[in-house]
Amino acid sequence: MELFEVYPLFDITPVQAQGCWITDSNGKKYLDLYGGHAVISIGHSHPRYVGRITKQLGKMAFYSNSVQNPLQRELADSLGKASGLEAYHLFLCNSGAEANENALKLASFHTGKSRVIAFKNSFHGRTSAAVAATDNPAIVSPLNAQQEVTFLPLNQAEVLQRELEKGDVCAVILETIQGVGGLDKAEPAFLELASALCKRYGTALIADEVQSGFGRSGRFFAFQESRAEPGIISMAKGMGNGFPVGGILIHPDFKASHGLLGTTFGGNHLACAASLAVLEVLESENLLSNAREMETYFRRRAANLPGLLQVKGQGLMLGLEFEFEVAPLRKQLIYDYGIFTGSSKNPKLLRVLPALNIGKQELDLFFQALKNAL
Ligand code: PLP
Repeated sequence: MELFEVYPLFDITPVQAQGCWITDSNGKKYLDLYGGHAVISIGHSHPRYVGRITKQLGKMAFYSNSVQNPLQRELADSLGKASGLEAYHLFLCNSGAEANENALKLASFHTGKSRVIAFKNSFHGRTSAAVAATDNPAIVSPLNAQQEVTFLPLNQAEVLQRELEKGDVCAVILETIQGVGGLDKAEPAFLELASALCKRYGTALIADEVQSGFGRSGRFFAFQESRAEPGIISMAKGMGNGFPVGGILIHPDFKASHGLLGTTFGGNHLACAASLAVLEVLESENLLSNAREMETYFRRRAANLPGLLQVKGQGLMLGLEFEFEVAPLRKQLIYDYGIFTGSSKNPKLLRVLPALNIGKQELDLFFQALKNAL
């Protein structure tokens, strides 16, 4: 049977990984500054992570959401403490798109409305409403396009207010720091205003923290740079360090009822074990503060790079915007220097999304390679 070929692939076959390093089937080592697309948060094969999942696997891997699962409560408690959002409620699912899909659905149930406001250059996933709220017509099928979505420019509060005043909007969904779109940020003042406007007009503010959450920005959630109070926060990627797990945090104003949301695999025992291990390591190794320190170091090392326009992003969700398109540079970094980096919708932006416990030594290797390549 052939694979359904939807991914353009690099001709590299990783077979083992440890920390920030990947080894391929020829024994060649690569420095992973891409983290499998911002997924690897505590490093590949972290011993606490391997230990916790292995122990759980030995006991029980899965049972359905029709019985008690104390690991879900333990995860909710730990997540409440780590994020400071103890009053929110947790619903677990399996991916970023599914988290946003549930967030949008819940917003629509809660408000009784159906129009969504999203922003230019957004990416929220590939399922029904999530892809409709994604600013990329190439991946929106006619079926998905039936949703009512209005795309607005980011950080323009008056434009947002004019749309919300119409009274028919169930949700405003935004990435606090745009990932695929190229690292533009929702400014704290805009977030605070969006939060207040959503409350005034009976709309749910959804903070998509699928990529920026779980410490990647140097805060637990990137929106916490502001005093905004989202109705729903979606998360995935770094939450499981590679184990497929996602979820939404739901403001207590939203009332649960049996059957309102659901999933077979969401919140399974292994996923909870993986995410609990991530939270333990984020705390015990002070990874949020490391993300902030490494950002400072990265910015310092990036100064004076030839052809550099600006450093974008925050924490360890960073990008180097050059005067030229970076696709050939990215290829050169992989094949000649053994370094994985990321791309985005902006062809001039080289993205860097390493594990949150990366150190100065690894960043030095990157900047040395970059200087040679440039
Ligand atoms: N939201 C954001 C901000 C993302 O970056 C992504 C994936 O890149 C998604 C949602 C979709 O997540 P998933 O691929 O797990 O469905």
